[in-house]
Amino acid sequence: MTATVIDGKAFAAKVRAQVTEHVARLKADHGITPGLAVVLVGEDPASQVYVRSKGKQTVEAGMKSVEHKLSADTSEADLLQVVADLNADPTIHGILVQLPLPTHLNEDLVINAIDPAKDVDGFHISNVGLLATGQKSMVPCTPLGCLMLLRDHLGSLSGKDAVVIGRSNIVGKPMAQLLLGDSCTVTIAHSRTKDLPDVVRRADIVVAAVGRPQMVPGDWIKPGAMVVDVGINRIDAGVKEDGSPRTRLVGDVDFDSVAKVAGAVTPVPGGVGPMTIACLLANTLTACCRANGLEAPEGLTA
Ligand code: NAD
Repeated sequence: MTATVIDGKAFAAKVRAQVTEHVARLKADHGITPGLAVVLVGEDPASQVYVRSKGKQTVEAGMKSVEHKLSADTSEADLLQVVADLNADPTIHGILVQLPLPTHLNEDLVINAIDPAKDVDGFHISNVGLLATGQKSMVPCTPLGCLMLLRDHLGSLSGKDAVVIGRSNIVGKPMAQLLLGDSCTVTIAHSRTKDLPDVVRRADIVVAAVGRPQMVPGDWIKPGAMVVDVGINRIDAGVKEDGSPRTRLVGDVDFDSVAKVAGAVTPVPGGVGPMTIACLLANTLTACCRANGLEAPEGLTA
């Protein structure tokens, strides 16, 4: 079997186009422009790239984009004041504090200071609780993107065996909740799971969110299963002509061997990655609609 390679880049472009269309309609019909504020503390180069990209795509979708860049030694009180000001700003519907924060700042405290209705990352404990109890919530962007790709390719997920590898608060746990919400039989596997290959072999759906390059080989995969690779790992790939090291991005899945067995697989790059920012835009639109007593557009939420 040769797997269908899921084009996350194309799907994310479709989601962004839908968001852009709804934003234009919100403006025309109600005079409302959704606003997203991103708060970056410190100068982590990867975070700076993400924040730039988020800002650019927010503006391209017709929304207002605000960036707060704070120095690495910002105090917790000052950061909490920025969050409080954004909570009170009626032109801002989504607030994202870029993680990780410098170690002197308490991430849980800062995230839980965000108004849950503006928590477009879906990390506030209220949103975690709402998701766990099957209520309307803000859903973390990466798992939401995975769910959209799964639904698009498989249709109904009801009754399928799903294994999520990884139990982090930002990917593994919310992913498992979303799959449960779609009536899958869900197993969460992690670093202490016994016989991981056997657990994964049972699955019709495998979501790998571990952070270990190419750890899931093809012989762990049930023939025909759909494999969603969340991992982003940079590995050595020889040297460049000028003698400097060359690297490349790979997922948590050994793509070549998995593609021979699976029914469908997401590549890295170009699979789940582009869906994350598309879902951030979708969440900002959803938050804006809800803040104004309007229905959030269908297909862009869980
Ligand atoms: P994390 O480090 O918080 O969690 C990793 C999880 O993997 C842990 O729950 C751990 O128990 C589990 N694990 C570790 N070793 C294992 C093993 N040998 N067998 C089974 N499970 C094991 O990571 P995270 O934040 O959830 O991210 C996971 C990966 O997804 C990373 O590569 C990260 O870069 C990537 N990621 C991608 C996106 C995206 O937009 N595509 C977003 C978030 C995270």
